[in-house]
Amino acid sequence: AIEVAALDKWYGTFHVLKNIDLTVATGERIVVCGPSGSGKSTLIRCINRLEEHQRGSISVNGIELGDSVKNLDAIRREVGMVFQHFNLFPHLTVKENCALPQILARGKRRRDAEEMAMHFLAKVRIPEQADKYPGQLSGGQQQRVAIARALCMTPKVMLFDEPTSALDPEMVKEVLDTMVTLAEEGMTMIVVTHEMGFARKVADRVVFMEAGEVIEVNEPNAFFDAPSHDSTRRFLATIM
Ligand code: ATP
Ligand code: MG
Repeated sequence: AIEVAALDKWYGTFHVLKNIDLTVATGERIVVCGPSGSGKSTLIRCINRLEEHQRGSISVNGIELGDSVKNLDAIRREVGMVFQHFNLFPHLTVKENCALPQILARGKRRRDAEEMAMHFLAKVRIPEQADKYPGQLSGGQQQRVAIARALCMTPKVMLFDEPTSALDPEMVKEVLDTMVTLAEEGMTMIVVTHEMGFARKVADRVVFMEAGEVIEVNEPNAFFDAPSHDSTRRFLATIM
């Protein structure tokens, strides 16, 4: 479970996250949406400490994200992250991209790491691309490599930050399909996305953020069909 309580964050003097409370149960799937600049990326980056917060608390599976380096390492073991721009290593093959983090961060033997890499590349349905370089793949394939690479670290929670928004439309579905599969297998997920079809299909709850605040949280059908706040309604009108 992820527990965010009374979270505040500033960038300098800019108050970017305001008193955020969010609990995500084990196995729960949360979609986060909201206008550009509302703090969605900042929130999920705080959860694996790519950003520091100033007030409130965050814990992942009971590990409190404080100042302790030990806890930071522990939390990073629990949490996998997938970004909008896949962040693959361009000079490594697909298989090496998936294997190297296991070798460096977990001390795994190359053989075992490569076996794990192939297992998850098969799972995201691109095992045949294993010996290519990222630049030789389509955007959708690269994003699936990024998902496989994250899964190779056996996270208990996966965070996705607009994983399909940099993709050509015809490649969105193949990435969403792998995420649906992951959700069906019970992965705890927080997904920042404006893909409403995905949200309706897999989200247990949809969170709407605006100007650093959580404005509305609801199960997807109620959220989309009968939003309670004017700002949610206005936002939905811009994306639908
Ligand atoms: P988008 O939909 O465009 O990705 P977002 O909801 O993810 O937006 P964030 O990236 O979290 O928004 O940014 C929230 C606010 O914080 C924005 O006003 C942004 O300009 C500001 N911001 C983000 N990163 C930094 C930073 N490193 N330093 C200062 N301000 C930042
Ligand atoms: Mg963002």
